[in-house]
Amino acid sequence: MSVEKRKVVVIGAGSVGTTYVYSLIQTGLVAEIVLIDANHKKVEGEIMDLSHGLPFIPPVRIRAGDYADCADAHLIVVTAGAKQTPGQSRLDLVRTNVSIVADIVQSIKSSDTNAVLVIVTNPVDVLTYAAVKQLDWPKSRIIGSGTVLDTSRFRFMLSRHCGIDPHNIHAYILGEHGDSEVPAWSMTHIAGIAIKDYCKICAKCDSQKTHDRIGRQVRDSAYHIIDYKGSTYYAIGLALVRISQAILRNEHSVLTVSSFLQGEYGLDNVCLSVPCVVGQTGVERIIVAELTANEKKQLADSAKTLASVIAKVIT
Ligand code: NAD
Repeated sequence: MSVEKRKVVVIGAGSVGTTYVYSLIQTGLVAEIVLIDANHKKVEGEIMDLSHGLPFIPPVRIRAGDYADCADAHLIVVTAGAKQTPGQSRLDLVRTNVSIVADIVQSIKSSDTNAVLVIVTNPVDVLTYAAVKQLDWPKSRIIGSGTVLDTSRFRFMLSRHCGIDPHNIHAYILGEHGDSEVPAWSMTHIAGIAIKDYCKICAKCDSQKTHDRIGRQVRDSAYHIIDYKGSTYYAIGLALVRISQAILRNEHSVLTVSSFLQGEYGLDNVCLSVPCVVGQTGVERIIVAELTANEKKQLADSAKTLASVIAKVIT
């Protein structure tokens, strides 16, 4: 797909949607971005503000639109809905956002699009599941941003602690994008060395205590940010650009997006994050890694947490 033809529709022109667009337009990755939001004035204002920077960046058209614009889009990103307030968990948002996203998905369905759909609104795993059930699309075309952000936080915090460039750290957060997420220490490598061996060589800290602390810090990051400044949007904006690159450039990148599981990791009929190969058709393949017994149990518990919420809110 040539750059000149790439079209992205972003639904939700709030902090997350507009930060994503602001980051995306600087990459030269797309020709056209269409913004949709229930608040039409806000969309117009955001488009004016973003467009006034166009002389400084690669050519791109940014405009307001409606759901008919989804028909020939390559990628549709849903960021519309309520956000957490201090002390609220992502799962607390479920009742409000299930109905908002169901209406949006219905409008996308009517457009008869072949785009890949990326859900970002929280609780992202539950809403991705709801979209899978609502759309008669190949399940691989419906993705949640999942723990791509948490995985980035994990790599950043490891990099800070170890004094190593985060690009040289391979590590994944699995499961729910939320309180039951699982740091997969058995899959964590620095310079190609498994973390348990790397820690023996480095020996600068009590590695078990450090692992526990970093796992907690990653899980609780959003609570701290929301407490300090109201909401999180910069890192998720960049995480969404990373997912967009993988899809629009057909990169076959390994990303911990949320996808519908059908037996992988012993889990069924739930959406959560595990390492997936992502390309222009969405999730091309789910990679099933050998986890420790404890990690398997934590992942199964995370799936149970999500399944119990799904059972309450999705009919
Ligand atoms: P925000 O309040 O700044 O923006 C939400 C926007 O959605 C508003 O502009 C609102 O007008 C719009 N909206 C509401 N209902 C709509 C509808 N029916 N149709 C179209 N637009 C509608 O919130 P935000 O900070 O941008 O966060 C958006 C969502 O993203 C929240 O659910 C938040 O929890 C989530 N989020 C997810 C991640 C992640 O990693 N998945 C990270 C950060 C935030």
